[in-house]
Parts: sequence; C-alpha cells; structure tokens
Amino acid sequence: MVSAPASAALIETDAVVVGAGPVGLFQVFELGLLEIRAHVIDSLPEPGGQCIALYADKPIYDIPATAVCTGRELVQRLLTQIAPFDAAFHLDQQVDVVQREADGRFRVETSKGVRLLAKTIVIAGGVGSFRPRRLKVDAAAPFEGSQLFYTAPEPGALAGRHVVVNGDGDDALECALRLAQPGAQRAASVTLLHRRDDFKAAPETVERVRELRASGQLGFIAAQPTGIEQHAGRLTALQVLTADGSTRALPLDMLLVLTGLSPKLGPIADWGLALERKQLVVDTASFETSTPGIFAVGDVNTYPGKKKLILCGFHEATLAAFGAAAHVFPQRPLHLEYTTTSPRLHRVLGVANPAEG
Ligand code: FAD
Repeated sequence: MVSAPASAALIETDAVVVGAGPVGLFQVFELGLLEIRAHVIDSLPEPGGQCIALYADKPIYDIPATAVCTGRELVQRLLTQIAPFDAAFHLDQQVDVVQREADGRFRVETSKGVRLLAKTIVIAGGVGSFRPRRLKVDAAAPFEGSQLFYTAPEPGALAGRHVVVNGDGDDALECALRLAQPGAQRAASVTLLHRRDDFKAAPETVERVRELRASGQLGFIAAQPTGIEQHAGRLTALQVLTADGSTRALPLDMLLVLTGLSPKLGPIADWGLALERKQLVVDTASFETSTPGIFAVGDVNTYPGKKKLILCGFHEATLAAFGAAAHVFPQRPLHLEYTTTSPRLHRVLGVANPAEG
C-alpha cells in the first residue's frame, strides 16, 4: 500500500475512491484491470472499513472460495491483491467536498487539505465516515489536541503523566495496559473509566486489566463523565457521576476517550446525489448515481433487492469499473477479458503467463 505524501499541490488522477472498506479496496482492483489509476481516501487511519473497525478478529464465512477468514485477514488479502496497481492512499481524512468543474472533471477536497481532480469518482462510503465517538461534555472541547485525545498516543508520549482512559473496548483497555506497564514509558498514574465494571474487550485483555487493578498499578472507576475542572487554561480534572449517584473529580493531565467509532454519512449527503433513506440511489447496470461519472458501491447504495454483503459489493465494483471506464476512456472500446488468458491483464497485473513464454 502506498501512503500518499501530504501536499498542497492539486493531484490529477483518473479516479477517486471514497472509502477503503472491503468494497473500496476491491474497486481499486477492478479499476486497475481497466488501467484506471485510483486514489483512495478514508477517514480511518487504516484501510478495511467495518471489517477492521468493527470485527477485525471475528470470522467471516461467506466470501466465495474462502471457507473462513477474519475481517483483518480479508483486508490483508485485498491489499495484496491490489498491490500491482499502486493506488495512493490518503488515510485519516474525510472527503468533504465533491464538485464538478467546468471541464467535466470532479474536484475532491479532504479534511486535511488534499485536493484532487478526477475524471470519475466511486463512492464506497459504507454506512458513513467512521469518526471517534465524542465525549458528551461540551466544556472539554477546547482541550482537544492538547489534553483531550480520541486516539491512543504513541508509546512514551504520556510517560510521567496522570492519565484517565475512558472506554471498555480493546482499544481503551490495551491503551490503559500499555500506559500502566512498568518501564520508562509508564504514566505516573492510569485510571480506566467506564460506566460499569464490565468490559466488551477480549477476555484475555480484560483478565490482564483485572490483574493490574488487583496489584494497584491500574485504577478503575465505574462512572460517567459529566463535566470538567480547569485552572489557568489547563484541564485539571474530569467530573464524573458514580453508580451511587455521587459526583467526584478525577484529577488528570491527559484524558483519552477511546469509546469506539460511529459512522456518519456526513458530507456524502451534501454532494447533490439522489438519496433514499440516507443511501445513494444507483442504476444497477453500472452502479452510477444520479450524477453521471459518480458511482456508488457497497453498503452506501440502494436499489431493489439490495443486500449489504461484501460479496454483493464486489459484484457492484466490477460493473462500476466498466461504467467508470466509459468516462475515463470514452474513445476506447471495452471488452470483457479473462485474467486467466488475457496478455493485457497479465501485463497490468505484473504476472508472467507461462503460456506466453
Ligand atoms: P465499509 O466497510 O463501511 O467502509 C466504508 C469506508 O468509507 C469506511 O472506512 C468509512 O470511514 C469510509 N468513508 C465514508 N465516508 C467517507 C468520507 N466522506 N470520507 C472518507 N472516508 C469515508 N458482510 C458479509 O458479507 N459477511 C459477513 O460475515 C459480515 N459480517 C459482519 C459482521 C459485523 C459485526 C458487521 C457490522 C458487518 C458485517 N458484514 C458482513 C457487513 C460488511 O462488513 C459490510 O457489508 C461491508 O463492510 C461493506 O463494505 P463497504 O466497503 O461498502 O463499506
């Protein structure tokens, strides 16, 4: 996978794929077979969409010719499969703007200021752009980026600090364990905060948390955040409401809120495309939306008989690639070729066919 360098320069490309979930990744493959270069953008810091964000280590049984694989394995296989096409990935940023230019191309802008000009767009935005669930304490917002964070920090970044970690999933518990482990990178104190003493993280992670709590290396409080305390422009404590109805202050230097991700259709709804119950209406011959040149595949689209399954998204991506090719290469005749026998496809895939010598 090629991570594109951050640059203010306008990037010209054949196609932009919005969303790096399983369907967006397979879209790169199908576009690549038709020699359409793609840039892929996702608001998550790694590719995989729901497969990584929601069930990375759980099994999937209905991918054709794969009896079973986990969400993470499926994504890894898709990344291997698309490697020959060197698609550029712009991760950890949301596509905010999609606008048609006078020459018929589309201008795409991301939340990190990446600007692209594309002949076609395929939206594979799933159930929406995954964003961290926010702390429901408005007064804390000004401290975001200085003392309030929604992602786990780099190892050592919080050494010697008093840290509160809010959450009950793998991310929160693993982060609390890392920060509390003896060593140079250890925080001065770590308190895990969740509304009850029951966690949805993997059982072995929960067990390690219990051990560290028992040994006093990790604090825990069953409570919900309700407010903050600040002094001289610094966040000094989080006010929490405990199970017995009392309010208390948790002193801290850093607050990590790792309470999971929630998808928001967000800007996709503002691009002037026909929607039906928050999904993009498509023509099933090519999965084109109401705007010629913009296609929608995977969970984000709707049509009679739609099933939100990865397998269905793969089929949609195949037809969308042919639809997109008509915009990228309007003069070129489009033929169906088999990867088994086509010398052109072997060339684009970078594989040598023994039969071709
Ligand atoms: P997603 O996987 O949702 O990916 C979309 C991506 O687009 C996301 O990463 C999102 O951040 C990004 N995005 C959206 N908007 C923007 C934007 N504006 N800018 C930047 N990025 C954006 N399906 C099966 O076929 N078999 C199964 O066994 C199965 N098991 C499942 C188990 C669970 C627990 C869940 C929740 C789902 C399961 N599914 C299963 C459904 C399957 O995961 C989805 O059908 C599939 O992920 C859809 O892929 P997608 O690429 O369309 O969208």
